[in-house]
Amino acid sequence: MPTTSRRDVILSAAVAAASLGLDKSLAIAAPARGRKTPDPTKGFLRYKVGDAECTAVYDGIWEKAHDPAFFSNATVAETKRALADAGLTTAFVPIPITVFVVKLNGKLVLCDAGGGNQVQAFNPESVFVSGKMMANMRAAGIDPKKIETILISHFHPDHIFGLLKKNTNAPVFPNAEIIVPAAEYKWWTDPSLITRLPAGRRPLARRIQTVIPNWKNVLPVEGEDEVVPGIRFVSAPGHTPGHSAFHISSGNEQLMISNDATYVPALCAAHPGWHGVFDQNAVAAETSRRKLLDRVIADKMMICGSHFPWPGLGKIASDGAGYALTTVQST
Ligand SMILES: [Zn+2]
Repeated sequence: MPTTSRRDVILSAAVAAASLGLDKSLAIAAPARGRKTPDPTKGFLRYKVGDAECTAVYDGIWEKAHDPAFFSNATVAETKRALADAGLTTAFVPIPITVFVVKLNGKLVLCDAGGGNQVQAFNPESVFVSGKMMANMRAAGIDPKKIETILISHFHPDHIFGLLKKNTNAPVFPNAEIIVPAAEYKWWTDPSLITRLPAGRRPLARRIQTVIPNWKNVLPVEGEDEVVPGIRFVSAPGHTPGHSAFHISSGNEQLMISNDATYVPALCAAHPGWHGVFDQNAVAAETSRRKLLDRVIADKMMICGSHFPWPGLGKIASDGAGYALTTVQST
Protein backbone atom coordinates (compact mmCIF):
# COMPACT_ATOMS: atom_id res chain seq x y z
CA MET A 1 0.00 0.00 0.00
CA PRO A 2 1.54 3.37 -0.91
CA THR A 3 2.22 5.58 2.04
CA THR A 4 2.01 9.34 2.07
CA SER A 5 4.14 11.36 4.39
CA ARG A 6 2.59 14.14 6.39
CA ARG A 7 4.79 16.59 4.47
CA ASP A 8 3.36 15.33 1.15
CA VAL A 9 -0.15 15.72 2.45
CA ILE A 10 0.57 19.25 3.59
CA LEU A 11 2.17 20.08 0.26
CA SER A 12 -0.69 18.66 -1.77
CA ALA A 13 -3.21 20.52 0.37
CA ALA A 14 -1.27 23.72 -0.19
CA VAL A 15 -1.14 23.11 -3.95
CA ALA A 16 -4.87 22.41 -3.93
CA ALA A 17 -5.52 25.62 -2.05
CA ALA A 18 -3.32 27.49 -4.46
CA SER A 19 -5.22 26.01 -7.41
CA LEU A 20 -8.44 27.22 -5.84
CA GLY A 21 -6.95 30.66 -5.60
CA LEU A 22 -6.72 30.56 -1.84
CA ASP A 23 -4.03 31.42 0.61
CA LYS A 24 -1.53 28.64 1.41
CA SER A 25 -1.78 29.32 5.11
CA LEU A 26 -5.31 27.95 5.01
CA ALA A 27 -4.06 24.58 3.80
CA ILE A 28 -1.49 23.43 6.28
CA ALA A 29 -3.31 20.33 7.45
CA ALA A 30 -4.75 17.29 5.76
CA PRO A 31 -8.52 16.75 5.78
CA ALA A 32 -9.43 15.61 9.26
CA ARG A 33 -12.56 13.71 8.39
CA GLY A 34 -14.17 11.57 5.72
CA ARG A 35 -16.98 12.47 3.40
CA LYS A 36 -20.44 12.33 4.97
CA THR A 37 -22.61 12.55 1.85
CA PRO A 38 -22.96 9.30 -0.09
CA ASP A 39 -22.97 9.43 -3.89
CA PRO A 40 -26.48 9.35 -5.36
CA THR A 41 -27.50 5.78 -6.21
CA LYS A 42 -27.84 6.91 -9.80
CA GLY A 43 -25.41 9.68 -10.79
CA PHE A 44 -27.57 11.09 -13.56
CA LEU A 45 -31.14 12.24 -14.15
CA ARG A 46 -32.70 12.71 -17.56
CA TYR A 47 -35.67 14.98 -18.29
CA LYS A 48 -37.20 16.84 -21.20
CA VAL A 49 -37.55 20.58 -21.79
CA GLY A 50 -39.66 20.71 -24.93
CA ASP A 51 -37.64 18.69 -27.43
CA ALA A 52 -34.42 19.16 -25.48
CA GLU A 53 -33.15 16.08 -23.67
CA CYS A 54 -31.39 17.30 -20.53
CA THR A 55 -29.25 15.10 -18.33
CA ALA A 56 -28.07 16.22 -14.91
CA VAL A 57 -24.73 14.56 -14.19
CA TYR A 58 -23.29 14.35 -10.66
CA ASP A 59 -19.66 15.47 -10.34
CA GLY A 60 -19.13 15.55 -6.57
CA ILE A 61 -19.65 17.60 -3.44
CA TRP A 62 -17.92 20.17 -1.31
CA GLU A 63 -18.80 19.66 2.34
CA LYS A 64 -17.74 23.11 3.38
CA ALA A 65 -16.90 23.75 7.03
CA HIS A 66 -18.78 26.68 8.54
CA ASP A 67 -16.78 29.88 8.42
CA PRO A 68 -17.81 33.29 9.75
CA ALA A 69 -16.31 34.86 6.60
CA PHE A 70 -18.62 32.91 4.24
CA PHE A 71 -21.13 35.77 4.19
CA SER A 72 -20.19 39.31 5.14
CA ASN A 73 -23.69 40.03 6.43
CA ALA A 74 -24.88 36.69 7.86
CA THR A 75 -23.57 34.80 10.87
CA VAL A 76 -22.78 31.09 11.08
CA ALA A 77 -25.88 30.69 13.28
CA GLU A 78 -28.04 32.34 10.58
CA THR A 79 -26.44 30.16 7.92
CA LYS A 80 -27.20 27.02 9.95
CA ARG A 81 -30.79 28.15 10.48
CA ALA A 82 -31.25 28.71 6.73
CA LEU A 83 -29.87 25.22 5.98
CA ALA A 84 -32.20 23.69 8.61
CA ASP A 85 -35.16 25.61 7.12
CA ALA A 86 -34.42 23.88 3.80
CA GLY A 87 -34.16 20.46 5.46
CA LEU A 88 -30.39 20.24 4.93
CA THR A 89 -27.66 19.20 7.33
CA THR A 90 -26.23 21.93 9.52
CA ALA A 91 -23.00 20.02 10.23
CA PHE A 92 -21.43 21.71 7.19
CA VAL A 93 -22.58 23.60 4.09
CA PRO A 94 -23.44 20.97 1.46
CA ILE A 95 -22.33 22.24 -1.96
CA PRO A 96 -22.93 19.51 -4.55
CA ILE A 97 -21.53 19.90 -8.07
CA THR A 98 -23.78 19.02 -10.99
CA VAL A 99 -23.11 19.51 -14.70
CA PHE A 100 -25.74 19.33 -17.42
CA VAL A 101 -25.69 17.69 -20.84
CA VAL A 102 -28.25 18.98 -23.33
CA LYS A 103 -29.19 17.26 -26.57
CA LEU A 104 -31.08 19.72 -28.73
CA ASN A 105 -31.44 20.32 -32.46
CA GLY A 106 -29.00 17.48 -33.17
CA LYS A 107 -26.21 18.88 -30.97
CA LEU A 108 -24.77 17.39 -27.80
CA VAL A 109 -23.80 20.19 -25.42
CA LEU A 110 -22.02 19.97 -22.06
CA CYS A 111 -22.76 22.84 -19.67
CA ASP A 112 -19.69 23.41 -17.43
CA ALA A 113 -17.15 20.69 -16.77
CA GLY A 114 -16.94 20.13 -12.99
CA GLY A 115 -13.80 20.01 -10.89
CA GLY A 116 -11.96 17.12 -12.58
CA ASN A 117 -10.83 15.71 -9.22
CA GLN A 118 -8.45 18.67 -8.99
CA VAL A 119 -10.15 20.84 -6.40
CA GLN A 120 -9.53 19.92 -2.79
CA ALA A 121 -10.77 21.27 0.48
CA PHE A 122 -8.45 23.89 1.93
CA ASN A 123 -9.89 23.66 5.41
CA PRO A 124 -9.11 20.43 7.33
CA GLU A 125 -12.73 20.25 8.43
CA SER A 126 -13.97 20.44 4.81
CA VAL A 127 -14.10 17.71 2.19
CA PHE A 128 -14.05 18.37 -1.57
CA VAL A 129 -14.85 15.55 -3.96
CA SER A 130 -15.10 16.12 -7.73
CA GLY A 131 -14.34 14.45 -11.05
CA LYS A 132 -17.20 11.94 -11.09
CA MET A 133 -18.66 13.58 -14.21
CA MET A 134 -16.99 11.29 -16.76
CA ALA A 135 -18.08 8.00 -15.16
CA ASN A 136 -21.61 9.28 -14.56
CA MET A 137 -21.84 10.59 -18.12
CA ARG A 138 -20.94 7.12 -19.40
CA ALA A 139 -23.44 5.55 -17.00
CA ALA A 140 -26.06 7.84 -18.58
CA GLY A 141 -25.14 6.44 -22.00
CA ILE A 142 -23.36 9.61 -23.10
CA ASP A 143 -20.02 9.12 -24.85
CA PRO A 144 -17.81 12.07 -23.78
CA LYS A 145 -16.11 11.91 -27.20
CA LYS A 146 -19.43 12.82 -28.81
CA ILE A 147 -19.68 16.13 -26.93
CA GLU A 148 -19.51 18.74 -29.69
CA THR A 149 -19.90 21.93 -27.70
CA ILE A 150 -19.06 22.92 -24.13
CA LEU A 151 -20.54 26.05 -22.57
CA ILE A 152 -18.60 27.56 -19.68
CA SER A 153 -20.36 29.85 -17.18
CA HIS A 154 -17.23 31.19 -15.48
CA PHE A 155 -13.63 30.24 -14.80
CA HIS A 156 -13.78 28.99 -11.19
CA PRO A 157 -11.99 25.64 -10.63
CA ASP A 158 -15.16 23.63 -9.90
CA HIS A 159 -16.48 24.61 -13.35
CA ILE A 160 -13.38 24.39 -15.59
CA PHE A 161 -10.82 22.00 -14.10
CA GLY A 162 -12.79 19.12 -15.65
CA LEU A 163 -11.55 20.47 -19.01
CA LEU A 164 -7.92 19.83 -18.03
CA LYS A 165 -5.99 16.66 -17.33
CA LYS A 166 -4.59 16.60 -13.84
CA ASN A 167 -0.83 16.84 -14.20
CA THR A 168 -0.36 17.85 -17.82
CA ASN A 169 -3.16 20.38 -18.43
CA ALA A 170 -3.86 18.40 -21.63
CA PRO A 171 -7.37 18.97 -22.98
CA VAL A 172 -9.98 16.41 -21.91
CA PHE A 173 -12.24 17.42 -24.82
CA PRO A 174 -9.80 18.30 -27.63
CA ASN A 175 -12.43 18.08 -30.34
CA ALA A 176 -15.23 20.05 -28.71
CA GLU A 177 -15.80 23.73 -29.28
CA ILE A 178 -15.60 25.50 -25.90
CA ILE A 179 -17.79 28.60 -25.82
CA VAL A 180 -17.05 31.07 -23.00
CA PRO A 181 -18.40 34.50 -22.05
CA ALA A 182 -16.09 37.09 -23.64
CA ALA A 183 -16.06 39.23 -20.47
CA GLU A 184 -14.89 36.24 -18.42
CA TYR A 185 -12.22 35.32 -20.95
CA LYS A 186 -10.96 38.88 -21.15
CA TRP A 187 -10.73 39.32 -17.38
CA TRP A 188 -8.89 36.07 -16.62
CA THR A 189 -6.51 36.17 -19.58
CA ASP A 190 -5.34 39.77 -19.12
CA PRO A 191 -1.60 39.38 -18.32
CA SER A 192 -1.75 42.36 -15.93
CA LEU A 193 -4.32 40.49 -13.80
CA ILE A 194 -1.63 38.39 -12.09
CA THR A 195 -0.02 41.30 -10.28
CA ARG A 196 -3.38 42.85 -9.43
CA LEU A 197 -4.61 39.69 -7.66
CA PRO A 198 -3.78 38.79 -4.06
CA ALA A 199 -0.92 36.25 -4.03
CA GLY A 200 -3.20 33.37 -3.04
CA ARG A 201 -5.39 33.80 -6.10
CA ARG A 202 -2.57 34.00 -8.64
CA PRO A 203 -2.05 30.25 -9.27
CA LEU A 204 -5.59 29.90 -10.65
CA ALA A 205 -5.09 32.85 -13.00
CA ARG A 206 -1.68 31.48 -14.02
CA ARG A 207 -3.12 28.05 -14.83
CA ILE A 208 -5.87 29.67 -16.91
CA GLN A 209 -3.40 31.93 -18.73
CA THR A 210 -0.99 29.05 -19.42
CA VAL A 211 -3.65 26.92 -21.02
CA ILE A 212 -6.84 28.56 -22.28
CA PRO A 213 -5.43 31.17 -24.72
CA ASN A 214 -3.38 28.40 -26.40
CA TRP A 215 -6.37 26.23 -27.13
CA LYS A 216 -7.66 26.82 -30.65
CA ASN A 217 -11.09 25.45 -29.81
CA VAL A 218 -12.07 28.19 -27.32
CA LEU A 219 -14.57 30.72 -28.61
CA PRO A 220 -15.32 33.83 -26.52
CA VAL A 221 -18.83 35.14 -27.20
CA GLU A 222 -20.06 38.65 -26.38
CA GLY A 223 -23.30 39.43 -24.57
CA GLU A 224 -26.38 37.26 -24.69
CA ASP A 225 -26.02 35.60 -28.07
CA GLU A 226 -27.67 32.32 -28.98
CA VAL A 227 -24.54 30.19 -28.65
CA VAL A 228 -26.02 27.00 -30.04
CA PRO A 229 -29.49 26.69 -31.58
CA GLY A 230 -31.96 26.92 -28.66
CA ILE A 231 -29.44 27.97 -25.98
CA ARG A 232 -28.49 31.55 -25.10
CA PHE A 233 -25.98 33.03 -22.69
CA VAL A 234 -27.62 35.20 -20.03
CA SER A 235 -25.29 37.77 -18.53
CA ALA A 236 -25.27 37.46 -14.71
CA PRO A 237 -22.08 39.20 -13.54
CA GLY A 238 -20.96 39.58 -9.93
CA HIS A 239 -19.95 36.07 -8.90
CA THR A 240 -17.19 36.71 -11.45
CA PRO A 241 -16.95 39.56 -14.00
CA GLY A 242 -18.29 37.48 -16.89
CA HIS A 243 -20.43 34.92 -15.05
CA SER A 244 -23.29 33.78 -17.29
CA ALA A 245 -26.39 31.63 -16.99
CA PHE A 246 -27.65 29.48 -19.87
CA HIS A 247 -31.21 29.73 -21.15
CA ILE A 248 -32.75 26.77 -22.98
CA SER A 249 -35.90 27.22 -24.98
CA SER A 250 -37.74 24.51 -26.90
CA GLY A 251 -41.38 24.61 -27.92
CA ASN A 252 -43.31 26.19 -25.05
CA GLU A 253 -40.83 25.14 -22.39
CA GLN A 254 -37.84 26.94 -20.93
CA LEU A 255 -35.08 26.02 -18.50
CA MET A 256 -32.67 28.46 -16.86
CA ILE A 257 -29.36 26.84 -15.99
CA SER A 258 -28.47 29.42 -13.36
CA ASN A 259 -24.93 28.14 -12.70
CA ASP A 260 -23.57 30.08 -9.68
CA ALA A 261 -26.01 33.02 -9.69
CA THR A 262 -27.82 31.43 -6.70
CA TYR A 263 -25.21 28.83 -5.80
CA VAL A 264 -26.72 27.30 -2.64
CA PRO A 265 -30.45 28.16 -2.90
CA ALA A 266 -31.12 27.42 0.78
CA LEU A 267 -28.82 30.37 1.49
CA CYS A 268 -28.69 32.61 -1.59
CA ALA A 269 -32.27 32.24 -2.89
CA ALA A 270 -33.90 32.32 0.54
CA HIS A 271 -31.66 35.27 1.45
CA PRO A 272 -30.75 36.95 -1.85
CA GLY A 273 -29.21 39.90 0.00
CA TRP A 274 -26.55 37.80 1.73
CA HIS A 275 -23.18 38.73 0.33
CA GLY A 276 -20.93 35.71 -0.14
CA VAL A 277 -17.14 35.77 -0.05
CA PHE A 278 -17.04 33.78 -3.31
CA ASP A 279 -18.96 36.52 -5.11
CA GLN A 280 -16.22 38.73 -6.48
CA ASN A 281 -18.57 41.71 -6.56
CA ALA A 282 -21.30 40.85 -4.08
CA VAL A 283 -23.51 43.87 -4.87
CA ALA A 284 -23.50 43.08 -8.60
CA ALA A 285 -24.06 39.39 -7.79
CA GLU A 286 -27.16 40.25 -5.75
CA THR A 287 -28.54 42.42 -8.58
CA SER A 288 -27.92 39.63 -11.13
CA ARG A 289 -29.43 37.00 -8.83
CA ARG A 290 -32.68 38.93 -8.26
CA LYS A 291 -33.00 39.80 -11.95
CA LEU A 292 -32.47 36.19 -13.02
CA LEU A 293 -34.86 34.70 -10.44
CA ASP A 294 -37.55 37.33 -11.21
CA ARG A 295 -37.31 36.40 -14.88
CA VAL A 296 -37.55 32.67 -14.14
CA ILE A 297 -40.71 33.29 -12.08
CA ALA A 298 -42.29 35.71 -14.59
CA ASP A 299 -41.73 33.32 -17.50
CA LYS A 300 -42.67 30.19 -15.51
CA MET A 301 -39.40 28.43 -16.30
CA MET A 302 -37.83 25.44 -14.65
CA ILE A 303 -34.50 26.26 -13.03
CA CYS A 304 -31.38 24.27 -12.24
CA GLY A 305 -27.98 25.22 -10.88
CA SER A 306 -24.47 23.90 -10.44
CA HIS A 307 -24.75 23.65 -6.65
CA PHE A 308 -28.48 23.02 -6.14
CA PRO A 309 -29.38 19.95 -4.07
CA TRP A 310 -28.90 16.93 -6.34
CA PRO A 311 -30.25 16.46 -9.03
CA GLY A 312 -30.21 20.22 -9.35
CA LEU A 313 -33.62 20.79 -10.90
CA GLY A 314 -36.47 22.77 -9.38
CA LYS A 315 -39.07 25.50 -9.45
CA ILE A 316 -38.60 28.87 -7.84
CA ALA A 317 -41.24 31.14 -6.29
CA SER A 318 -41.25 34.45 -4.46
CA ASP A 319 -41.29 33.93 -0.71
CA GLY A 320 -41.48 37.09 1.36
CA ALA A 321 -38.23 38.96 1.00
CA GLY A 322 -36.58 36.07 -0.76
CA TYR A 323 -37.21 33.10 -3.02
CA ALA A 324 -38.07 29.49 -2.32
CA LEU A 325 -36.82 26.56 -4.37
CA THR A 326 -38.84 23.40 -4.67
CA THR A 327 -36.52 20.69 -5.88
CA VAL A 328 -37.42 17.78 -8.10
CA GLN A 329 -36.40 14.61 -6.33
CA SER A 330 -34.30 11.97 -8.00
CA THR A 331 -35.27 8.33 -7.60
ZN1 LIG B 1 -19.30 26.93 -8.47
